[in-house]
Amino acid sequence: MYAVIVCFRCGQLLLAKTYQKTRRCPYCETRLILSKTRKVATAETAREASTLIRTLKQKKRMEPPDFKR
Ligand SMILES: [Zn+2]
Repeated sequence: MYAVIVCFRCGQLLLAKTYQKTRRCPYCETRLILSKTRKVATAETAREASTLIRTLKQKKRMEPPDFKR
């Protein structure tokens, strides 16, 4: 089983196998402990999981822009 997790440091979505205990974020190189990391979705196959990530990323892009800039 696969899980879509959120890196607590950079906020990127990444794919992890649920049996893994840790996962290194490919974006910011942080080592994430899976039991302490927020899971946003789970999937049976890697293919399904990557589709989920793509969908979630699109959803994120549609959120209102950040006006702090
Ligand atoms: Zn990260």
